[in-house]
Amino acid sequence: MRVDGDVGWRGRPAVGGTSGCAHLGELLDVRPLSGVCEACAAGALTWQALLLCRTCGYVGCSDDSRGLHARRHYEWVDHPIVSALGGRGDRGWCYADAMALELPLLRP
Ligand SMILES: [Zn+2]
Ligand SMILES: [Zn+2]
Ligand SMILES: [Zn+2]
Repeated sequence: MRVDGDVGWRGRPAVGGTSGCAHLGELLDVRPLSGVCEACAAGALTWQALLLCRTCGYVGCSDDSRGLHARRHYEWVDHPIVSALGGRGDRGWCYADAMALELPLLRP
């Protein structure tokens, strides 16, 4: 007899044939390329918060900022996973799946 409890990520059974984010394998050990949203800085915009692309290190502003540059970055180059800049990096977001993720910690 099979036990269908602890299957898939976070121990939750898969729903509808998917079991969470398929992009986690694309994560690299990145360093932030800057400490500001350079796209905003170039246009003299301000931002609410900054997000770090966990595929290439691009820094862009969050979805509650006017520039939406982290989301733009995903749309342009298809790097879906971001985490807050300046934090430990363990709380992330996947734009493609629109879901929160637990990520590996960033190197200090
Ligand atoms: Zn994903
Ligand atoms: Zn921006
Ligand atoms: Zn990127």
